[in-house]
Amino acid sequence: MTTVTRFAPSPNGPLHLGHAYAAVVAHDLARAREGRFLLRIEDIDGARSRAEFAESTLDDLRWLGLDWDGAAIRQSARIAAHAAALDDLRREGLVYPCTCTRAEVAAAATETGPDGPIYPGTCRGRTDGPDGPDGPVAWRLDMARAIARAGPLKWTDELAGVQVAQPELFGDVVLGRKDAPGSYHLAVTLDDAADGVTLVTRGMDLFASTHVHRLLQTLLGLSVPVWHHHALLVEGDGEKLAKRRGSPSLADRRLAGEDGRALAADIRAGRFPGGLSLSFSALAIGRENP
Ligand code: GLU
Ligand code: ZN
Repeated sequence: MTTVTRFAPSPNGPLHLGHAYAAVVAHDLARAREGRFLLRIEDIDGARSRAEFAESTLDDLRWLGLDWDGAAIRQSARIAAHAAALDDLRREGLVYPCTCTRAEVAAAATETGPDGPIYPGTCRGRTDGPDGPDGPVAWRLDMARAIARAGPLKWTDELAGVQVAQPELFGDVVLGRKDAPGSYHLAVTLDDAADGVTLVTRGMDLFASTHVHRLLQTLLGLSVPVWHHHALLVEGDGEKLAKRRGSPSLADRRLAGEDGRALAADIRAGRFPGGLSLSFSALAIGRENP
């Protein structure tokens, strides 16, 4: 089977070195396996997506010498498919409408999951539809039902090995919102299947999300890829890359005349500018999971 990877940035801001690293990993893994490397712009966050950041992404990748196969894919072109999948889940009784605000959820939550407060279940069991002035702001997955429906699941990370899926860590995740039919979890899972992605490469910060994606694949009858969660670029002191420290974006570097291919070569050789280094600490997430 041909390996298909993708780089899937959200055009909510300029790309930084962490994105360059992620793009190099996805590109080089595909090329090393004589596979395909796709570019998908995840532009479904209407409030935060900007056309200029999407444009700049294409220029940044070309500047780094990273060539993608086919045309750049726009996630926003798939919104109807996201809505249809949400409808399927609704018909199966696996999602319910929720009208809680973020503040209400935060106030009532007693546990915290990988994405923040775990939904306390206030609206679970509601069946009222999406219409009306007080219509739901979100559709949530009934996690216990979904897990009962799907049964025990495993998934494979190339680096961390076989994982027992633990979507229950997230509680009743949001799968759709009034303003976007597909949440990140739903949209990325559907689109990776639609694009024929066989190897999902992304940063360790999204490792836990894969538990939810693996569950959605079974509920929606989608193909199951292998994952490759890579280390994250961190500041020299091991702290998260902080934009406030003023590291220049890839576009800044490109417009300043820096050689992008040389930067990509440095990244491949593990030479990161500005005292940055790679964190492997997040791999511990994989080891905790039998
Ligand atoms: N679009 C997501 C982001 O920029 C990444 C999607 C993924 O790789 O799963 O954070
Ligand atoms: Zn609610």
